[in-house]
Amino acid sequence: MAEVEVQRILVDDVREFIAEKWKHSECELCGTDRWMSYPEPTEYIYLTVGSGHGPVVFSAQATVAFLPLSCINCGNLRLIDGRTFEQWRRTKELGATTSSR
Ligand SMILES: [Zn+2]
Repeated sequence: MAEVEVQRILVDDVREFIAEKWKHSECELCGTDRWMSYPEPTEYIYLTVGSGHGPVVFSAQATVAFLPLSCINCGNLRLIDGRTFEQWRRTKELGATTSSR
């Protein structure tokens, strides 16, 4: 396999992740399959986690990262759990590192 010197950008990994994981890439609302992610370095959104008494403040565990993908046609929003995505990314990078070094 050829050297992989070009630094992969996030959007490449997002496309690869979707191609590997999603069985149905069509938007469930409008039926098109064109999704837009936000460009680095602002690719993630963070949701605040809380109890019934309101959000937990000043805690590292109080936010969860998601990768937003919005339908270019209708604006429908999908959120990929950042932990799932980053774990997949690390596993993939490990595979690439062991085969090229
Ligand atoms: Zn749509």
